[in-house]
Amino acid sequence: METRKVYKIATLGSHSALQILKGAKDEGFKTICVTIPDRVSLYSRFSFIDKIVVIEKYTDFPKVEGQLIKDNAIIIPHGSFVAYLGVENNKKMKVPYYGNKKVLDWESDRKMQRDWLIQSGIPVPRRFKKGEKIDRPIIVKSYGAAGGNGYFFAKNQKDFDRRIKSFKPKDFIVQEYVIGVPLYIHYFYSPISKKLEILSIDKRYESNVDSLGRIPSQNQQGLGIEPSFVVVGNSPLALRESLLAEAFEMGERVVAKSKELISGGLWGPFCLETIITPEQKFSIIEISCRIVAGTNLFINGSPYAALYWDKEVSTGRRIAMEIKDAIKKNKLGKILN
Ligand code: ATP
Repeated sequence: METRKVYKIATLGSHSALQILKGAKDEGFKTICVTIPDRVSLYSRFSFIDKIVVIEKYTDFPKVEGQLIKDNAIIIPHGSFVAYLGVENNKKMKVPYYGNKKVLDWESDRKMQRDWLIQSGIPVPRRFKKGEKIDRPIIVKSYGAAGGNGYFFAKNQKDFDRRIKSFKPKDFIVQEYVIGVPLYIHYFYSPISKKLEILSIDKRYESNVDSLGRIPSQNQQGLGIEPSFVVVGNSPLALRESLLAEAFEMGERVVAKSKELISGGLWGPFCLETIITPEQKFSIIEISCRIVAGTNLFINGSPYAALYWDKEVSTGRRIAMEIKDAIKKNKLGKILN
């Protein structure tokens, strides 16, 4: 197919770049990695990366936009795009960008995000407003915290009152602490086929909360250990089949509601960050509207992706498949911004 040779897939060298670029190459695209000097030695190890563009720091990305446009590049955003460039610079980007930029406003505002989930009929943890009586264990989350840094747990009102005095961030939310298994569902929605797929699922491993159970509670007494939620890695997880139907339906409801709330709606990869209680109820703590790092476990496919495709399909590769399909059907305008 001629057109496939014309478009190149580009991303920022960080986060899930290896997965995205490997997937693009597997689908026949030329690939470009834009990265910082320290990372050149990493990305030059891999033959599926055709070109490395070096910038001094990630925030210099706009400086190479002209070059990327000349190269006919399509940008695939991942977690580092918002983290390093911010929402506004993502919106200003002139290189064709995979995904709906309008979703960024809904995702980055905690209140709008919560409204979207609630209106989609998605169960979310109870939120305590300022001054409202706390009647259960809670987690305090500061705004802009990354990967569970800047959070604390309190078992009741008294505990909260004591800890909040020494908590520095001024912007935070107080949310019911849901006791259960944190599970991250990686979805992919195609506006071309109008189908939603679950491509993979992971569970996070967080320090120290996931290791507290290794020390029996009688031995912990007096140690004053505080749970913390710093992500150190991810492991794959196959969900009980009985919970899968609900997982699909939740994803479909979020997509359907997005079409009402946001012009064009949500498409491409997204993730519902859930906690499953012993009663087997989902509670959704966050939605990420792009490829998430947990998908890196599945560069060579997953048990779920195998249900749709007879080849090894990662989220990165699925994006490239979608772009290829859009080129073939002359629908690129439907998936790029
Ligand atoms: P990221 O943006 O990387 O997803 P984050 O900083 O937004 O991370 P969260 O996903 O909000 O962080 O939460 C980090 C961790 O804190 C979760 O993985 C989970 O272990 C714990 N956590 C957050 N909210 C709750 C909750 N309501 N109940 C129980 N645990 C929670």
